[in-house]
Amino acid sequence: MLNTSVLVLNRSYLPIQVTSVRRAFALIYQGIARAVNERYQTFDFESWAELAKVRDGDTVGTLRGPIPVPRVIVLTAFDRVPKRHVRFSRINIYARDNFTCQYCGVRHARSELNLDHVVPRAQGGRSTWENVVCSCLECNRRKGNKTPAQAGLHLRRPPARPRWTPLMNLMLSNVRYTEWRPFLNVVDASYWNTELVP
Ligand SMILES: [Zn+2]
Repeated sequence: MLNTSVLVLNRSYLPIQVTSVRRAFALIYQGIARAVNERYQTFDFESWAELAKVRDGDTVGTLRGPIPVPRVIVLTAFDRVPKRHVRFSRINIYARDNFTCQYCGVRHARSELNLDHVVPRAQGGRSTWENVVCSCLECNRRKGNKTPAQAGLHLRRPPARPRWTPLMNLMLSNVRYTEWRPFLNVVDASYWNTELVP
């Protein structure tokens, strides 16, 4: 139970990461975060612990008795939890592009995908968030060592550095607690709306 997931919101209620129940309790206990209930009320450690008497659902046993497990916490200050570096990795690029070929727009299994340099390396293209996209093997072959224009292909959207770990989106699609739902649209919105270059 202590290793199950808790959604962490920043002070503006934007989800910024997923953490463990163990760490969530530590953050609440230190006053760095507050627990959030279904009605968006927030609680410090003492008031949250008191809820054990009236609240159904998961609890963890402590010396002072059972304490409800929070599924959402909100940070009480900005910049208290360091931003994670988003690793420029294959999986993160796949995740950023939602496992969708950026040329034909078809979603594929991981094994059917490849990384494509928009401006090919042979033409001076670099390995950066802005120049590497997820591509299906077919489009990749068609494109070869050409630019999209030269190959008659069109990018679905301009590739950009994700503001936050795309893997978190994967986690969110895998582990969904009902308590997270009100905040998930915000996830999509901030991921898709604020990140991309027009
Ligand atoms: Zn394709």
